[in-house]
Amino acid sequence: MIETEVDKDEFWALVLESLEVKAPSPQFNSRYGRMIPVSYKDGTLKLASPNQFQRDWFMKGIDLVRQSAQEVAGKEISIQVVVDESIITEQIEPKSPTVNEIIAEDIKEEHAIPRGILDEKYTFDNFIAGDSNSFARSIAMNVAEHPGQRYNPLFISGGSGLGKTHLLQAIGNYITQVYPHKKVIYTTAEEFFNDFMSVINPGSSSSEIKDIGQFHKMYREVDVLLMDDIQFIEGKIATMEQFFHTFETLYNKKAQIVVTSDRAAAEINMAERMITRFQMGVEADVLPPSYELRYAIIKSLFEKQSIPVRKEVFEYLADKNVRSVREIEGAVNIIIAFAELSHQSIIDLEMTQKTTAGLFKNQMNHIVKVATIQSEVCKFFKVNKNDLLGSKRQQSIVYPRHIAMYLTQELTDLSYPLIGREFGDRDHTTVMHAVEKIKKMIKSDPQVIQQIEMLTEQIKRQQ
Ligand code: ADP
Ligand code: MG
Repeated sequence: MIETEVDKDEFWALVLESLEVKAPSPQFNSRYGRMIPVSYKDGTLKLASPNQFQRDWFMKGIDLVRQSAQEVAGKEISIQVVVDESIITEQIEPKSPTVNEIIAEDIKEEHAIPRGILDEKYTFDNFIAGDSNSFARSIAMNVAEHPGQRYNPLFISGGSGLGKTHLLQAIGNYITQVYPHKKVIYTTAEEFFNDFMSVINPGSSSSEIKDIGQFHKMYREVDVLLMDDIQFIEGKIATMEQFFHTFETLYNKKAQIVVTSDRAAAEINMAERMITRFQMGVEADVLPPSYELRYAIIKSLFEKQSIPVRKEVFEYLADKNVRSVREIEGAVNIIIAFAELSHQSIIDLEMTQKTTAGLFKNQMNHIVKVATIQSEVCKFFKVNKNDLLGSKRQQSIVYPRHIAMYLTQELTDLSYPLIGREFGDRDHTTVMHAVEKIKKMIKSDPQVIQQIEMLTEQIKRQQ
């Protein structure tokens, strides 16, 4: 990348893409997305923050930013952050205090260190209910209205992209608004794990948690614990044990506990007594959406933008028997982006078919193919598949991961969002970033070309 003043936006965009892989998604926007690049030159990236709180919140995650900037630039980058209050009125829509700010105030006053921050875009109002999810939604609403009372713990299970995180965050947003004195912590099991690891092995992670006292304060001195993707700690015996004690402490003082998981409690590899605890409360699952629900979701997504849409478009898209709401959102976003870029006056069936060609077809074949690519890449670079799809950031794993994404993009007709899903549910921008990176390397490093040729040959032989 050439360092000039004009490249600041592009450079920051690349850093954000790389950050998106590393930062837990609910935190990503609130922590990093509100910074404005001011300049990028002489190895220094200068950013402006709309206010001091945002700056402090950002600085807590600065290590990841440095790491990402270094990855993008290929050398160490120093990062400066200034507060520029004019940004608020000019670039960010003026608002009354947001949920984030309310939590922020709480955090400042209290001793808690923020974990994942709630994203105010997830509410009950914009969670569309159908047969497949209305039970989960109404229990979640009950929990939000009466935390710690009737349904405790609440265990929400279901496949990827079906709205578990949405519901969990909606509970958090509702409680922080209606009961501002209640302390709510939203976290992922992965963050819980990382925090616990840094207690056991100080210095091993970038977590701010330094000792068991801080750890207990963070997770036990709360009124509501919202923990996303508990399956992450299955089989991790010590962390599960910690979670069990956290659970007991909270439960005994009638704090509300809500957990999500990609499968039912009984199907997770954890101690029997933990499963029993989960079953003391309510288990609610979210299932893949029916035609009617898909239709309603598609309609509401299109209603958020201004270009008129023909009814056949809703029918056409709803007819695709996709497994997840995330996939539906991906398709609708692509159509909207295309319509905006090409200045369409109306979104019609023809345009929809054209833009989504290849997005839905032959999903089974793709699964086989992606699996082949992944396993060939694993063999070639001697990494294991969990690492390839996981979140480790060592170069010895990141590079094969990028190569595998690149090959998937080249050898299948899967879209970026779908590739992201096949690679541990990553965002499409992450995939784009990986593909771009490999394309650049191909231009400058003959060894990369050679590896890609060898791999392509091996993959084709398997099909
Ligand atoms: P999960 O955590 O189960 O993998 P998410 O909660 O992240 O899934 O949902 C994926 C995307 O789909 C999110 O953008 C979410 O807002 C959206 N979504 C899921 N279910 C619904 C729904 N019933 N109504 C509106 N949006 C939904
Ligand atoms: Mg989720």
